[in-house]
Amino acid sequence: MEDRIIRATAKDGAIRIIGATTTNLLNEAIRIHKTTPTASCAMGRMLTAGVLMGAMLKNDKDVLTLKIDGGGPIKGITVTAYADGRIKGIVGNPNVQLPPRQNGTIDVSGAIGKNGMLTVIKDLGLKNPYVGQVKIYTGEVGEDVAYYYTTSEQTPSAVAVGVMFNKDLEASAAGGFIIQMMPDADPLLADLVQYRLEEMPSTTEMINNGKTIDEIISNIFEDMDLKIHDDGKPYYGCDCSREKIETALISLGKKELSNIIADRKDEEIGCSFCGSRYIFTPEEMEQLMEKAK
Ligand SMILES: [Zn+2]
Repeated sequence: MEDRIIRATAKDGAIRIIGATTTNLLNEAIRIHKTTPTASCAMGRMLTAGVLMGAMLKNDKDVLTLKIDGGGPIKGITVTAYADGRIKGIVGNPNVQLPPRQNGTIDVSGAIGKNGMLTVIKDLGLKNPYVGQVKIYTGEVGEDVAYYYTTSEQTPSAVAVGVMFNKDLEASAAGGFIIQMMPDADPLLADLVQYRLEEMPSTTEMINNGKTIDEIISNIFEDMDLKIHDDGKPYYGCDCSREKIETALISLGKKELSNIIADRKDEEIGCSFCGSRYIFTPEEMEQLMEKAK
């Protein structure tokens, strides 16, 4: 099944809903970053949260970065989301592997840690980006993003993000949703939605059983005048290029570049988001040095 994002409202706009399935894009990220199951699970939750949050961006050029770093052995995860559904991410330590908890679940909060911050950076094309930050609440990602929206943006939100794996340690199901109550929403409505969320199986279980995100959202809001406004396809993708790497190298300055060139060997520079490799010969590095300050 293809990955999918939907944007919807219920109860005349009093409830805003974004849902996504992200199984394929997570498997792409697992191939690139060669993550262990613990790291894959944490990364999958962050990528899904990024896709959902990115879907709330209003303009094509807006960019959202979501970072979590709780001092745990995974050494932080950063994802960058674009308005068109594109997402990319970096995991500090893709090799972290923790034993499962007694109930068999993957110890995501153990990998992320709880002593640190969840940071949201929105580049909306203004002079300065918007930066919001909250303390890590549980380190399980979903609750942390909900806590961020509720406190930092004063929008009560329910967030579910999850991943399930098959025997080959590929994701068999990944996805989730963000449900937000608008300020004029009836408080009883929030209670009713909360009750339904608690009664239903986990989102990933439903995705794993072949349910589409449309069906999952429709199940929750079937009698609440649900309107699906638009949909799209999230995907893992990087926008790195040789030109961008050159610009970054030039910005290092003449002195730093001359240090790098000193060994007279080819320099290989890898992109941390997608694994692409760019090779610069000493002659090419010298040309860049001429452009540097
Ligand atoms: Zn790249």
